Amino acid sequence: MKKDLYIDFDSTIVNSDKAISTIYNNNYKDYKGFSPAIWENHENWAYKLICPLIHIHEDNPTNIILEYFNSNEFFKHLEFYENAKDVIRQLVHKYNVIICTSAFPMNASRKVLWIEEHIPEIDEIIILINKSGQGYGKSRVPMMEQDSIFIDDHPKNLYSTKASRKYLFKQRSTDYNGGWNGPIISSWKQIGELLLNDD
Ligand SMILES: [Mg+2]
Repeated sequence: MKKDLYIDFDSTIVNSDKAISTIYNNNYKDYKGFSPAIWENHENWAYKLICPLIHIHEDNPTNIILEYFNSNEFFKHLEFYENAKDVIRQLVHKYNVIICTSAFPMNASRKVLWIEEHIPEIDEIIILINKSGQGYGKSRVPMMEQDSIFIDDHPKNLYSTKASRKYLFKQRSTDYNGGWNGPIISSWKQIGELLLNDD
């Protein structure tokens, strides 16, 4: 029987930080004090370090970041992490791959359409929407099936479910991905090696 494999979307399958950086660079390139956002340096969830002009010029920077995430431009620029697409297309033969992602009302449908366009092999998508932003991680999805696996870039989300095996997807340290004592994976090549050869 196939095991259930839950995978987060933003910053796990796709490089959301790079898409946010591209939008920022287009919007602020003519502003005084601009220097291009470098997604590799991202480490604050509100993008304070790499998108500082949002925090200088906007009354509500968090809303602006949300607008970026909700925009057509975001999905236009969105890219897979290296090897993610190939590995996922192989994983669907061995696992029930379920994308489990938090979303906002304005981007949920775009996200689903993006997934359908780029990885139509995915059969099941779980979207969690909590408009207050004060949600419960992913605890609404218990992931209690036998031997279920969960990969996410947020320790808070991993801790919130009862999956049998949980992996933090971590390419670098940020101010939100510390405090995880479980296994860490840092690339899709590594995910492929781990899960495609797994019994
Ligand atoms: Mg994520």
